[in-house]
Amino acid sequence: MSALAQVAPAGPPLTSLAGGGRAELAARLRELGVPAREQRMRVGQLWHWMYHRGATEFGAMTTIGKEMRAELARSFSLERPRIVSEHISSDGTRKWLLRMPPKGPRDTGVEIETVYIPEVDRGTLCVSSQVGCTLTCSFCHTGTQRLVRNLDASEIVGQLLVARDQLGDWPGTGRGGDGAALADAPRLISNIVFMGMGEPLYNFDAVKEAVETIADGEGLSLSRRRITLSTSGVVPMIARAGAEIGTMLAVSLHAVRDELRDELVPLNKKYPISTLLEACRAYPGLSNARRITFEYVMLKGVNDTDADARELVRLLRGVPAKINLIPFNPWPGTRYECSSWNRIEAFSEIVFNAGYASPIRTPRGRDILAACGQLKSETEKLRARARLMLESGIGAEGMFASSE
Ligand code: SAH
Ligand code: SF4
Repeated sequence: MSALAQVAPAGPPLTSLAGGGRAELAARLRELGVPAREQRMRVGQLWHWMYHRGATEFGAMTTIGKEMRAELARSFSLERPRIVSEHISSDGTRKWLLRMPPKGPRDTGVEIETVYIPEVDRGTLCVSSQVGCTLTCSFCHTGTQRLVRNLDASEIVGQLLVARDQLGDWPGTGRGGDGAALADAPRLISNIVFMGMGEPLYNFDAVKEAVETIADGEGLSLSRRRITLSTSGVVPMIARAGAEIGTMLAVSLHAVRDELRDELVPLNKKYPISTLLEACRAYPGLSNARRITFEYVMLKGVNDTDADARELVRLLRGVPAKINLIPFNPWPGTRYECSSWNRIEAFSEIVFNAGYASPIRTPRGRDILAACGQLKSETEKLRARARLMLESGIGAEGMFASSE
């Protein structure tokens, strides 16, 4: 720890600046009495250290004067969401259960999950935008949990900060070499997908602010082309997302007839397939190089026939599209099963022959329950079991050992 780091005085914990946007940092500096004419420059300095270098203490910010650093350390922290547990899959996928700092005296701290998926040509971080979800897609485990609350922008950005800390994915850290030499090295986390818990378009302002921080070229620098928002189809927000957030878009289609989609993605009753596809066609900036991803979960005997595949191709005519077939990840109590491998391949071939790339999403991290639609719920279940066992006098340690 640097000599400049202060021991926090007893009392309420210091407000963390980690994850904050430029406007928030400026407001915090105003609280400290930093004069208006200095604020831009100070925000720029903090920004560089927090988001380019990944500093976790003010003492390390050597371009900022000692007094200012000490003042910052007395007033604020750079604390990230706390890691409650980390699971590493045999395929390299990592899942972190994170506890967000309490937002007030009555907040005991919510927990969410973030998953890192390494692939040959990229590394993808799957982030959550809400704790739980208001929607009730019948095949999704998150859909069985109520919405606890929206995450704020710094809690969304905080997921990336923690992942970079853990992977040593800052210039000059972890992977050897000096900062300058590594500044241009490819990052382990090259892509972000909003495919964890929650519906990002129902938490629009926070997601927008988080993307602004993540895409900022002087800091975390992940281009908007490498950030994907996945939506279940909140039609009125799609145009706004295109105009104001400007990331890539993924749409959870999952069915080609309204009757079935009403059942799988109940939001379809409000915004049926035709209106959804109309909004997709109007999404700005689409081209062959910039396509919308249509996600399609493969459910045995439900949506997986050759006729479904042909109808899918017909529906998407004229939309620059990629089709992502997702093997269904079963969870305890679900009424669905995953289609057989042969069926998925036959479906994929029809889509492929019609000229669409149709990658089948390889299930990743299944051994650590990190696959789509499984986040957090399993941990909650284990906790509930642990509580029951504790109440009945049985120790819970052994049970957690198998899953940690
Ligand atoms: N709420 C957003 C983003 C989070 S869900 C959305 O619905 O798009 C991310 C993706 O995982 C969605 O395509 C969702 O339909 C899919 N998914 C949810 N549960 C799943 C499960 N059990 N198996 C496979 N995919 C699932
Ligand atoms: Fe919510 Fe997406 Fe799950 Fe539907 S699939 S319940 S929108 S998280």
